[in-house]
Amino acid sequence: MPELPEVEVTRRSFAGAIEGATVCGIAVGKPLRWPLGMEPAVLVGRRVCGVRRRGKYLLLDLDEGLLLIHLGMSGSLRFARDLPARGAHDHFELITDQGTLRLHDPRRFGAVVWAAGESDPRARKLLDGWGLEPLGEDFAFESFHAGLRAKRSPIKQLLLAGTVVVGVGNIYACEVLFLAGIRPTTRACAIGPQRARRLHGAIREVLARAVERGGSTLRDFSSADGSAGHFQLEANVYGRAGLPCRQCGTPVRLLRQGQRSTYFCPHCQRA
Ligand SMILES: [Zn+2]
Repeated sequence: MPELPEVEVTRRSFAGAIEGATVCGIAVGKPLRWPLGMEPAVLVGRRVCGVRRRGKYLLLDLDEGLLLIHLGMSGSLRFARDLPARGAHDHFELITDQGTLRLHDPRRFGAVVWAAGESDPRARKLLDGWGLEPLGEDFAFESFHAGLRAKRSPIKQLLLAGTVVVGVGNIYACEVLFLAGIRPTTRACAIGPQRARRLHGAIREVLARAVERGGSTLRDFSSADGSAGHFQLEANVYGRAGLPCRQCGTPVRLLRQGQRSTYFCPHCQRA
């Protein structure tokens, strides 16, 4: 599943190239997770003003309205002037005078949704309720810690929920908790300021590093300019059940939390 770093890398790979483009046409394949929500022909002639990201959504700003793009479980975007003929898994194309933006999504959990603006209920339904943006200026420690203190759920599940901080997927959640020395089952509200500060720093560092390295924890990830993601997370614990912890040698343990695999070191993450 594309995580926040992959989405950000995707954004950077085409945001500059598509800016200022005029929409010439839309091509749609099979239905995606949610319908576009407007007649594709109406988008023709609109200009692309820029591409922003909120959590795992890309916001393609048009001179009138915007498109919200989500990559779902298996989606990837490409933007180029000359793309090969549309294949069976290419379900959306925004054809512009500067190139075509194509969504390739074999499992079709991704979506492209039109909204009149960010306050449009269609946009709010998708964008409201998410937590702080970990790569942005607003990821202040105080707000983050206040968010943790208000919740009794296990910290790992709270991170995955995205309501306090957005975009910390399963792999990253395991890794940042290891770096912060926090047991994944610890209740969020029980995490004191010192450990919360380590966790805050670890989230920022791990996600920023993943973006810098081209973003991928996903085998088949490639950014919109077609270059393959070359970042393989050098996991400390994720996927390493039974193997010695890189820090202390204790075998890494695996447990299930809310149907997701959690990896941790019982020695380095004692409480
Ligand atoms: Zn350890």
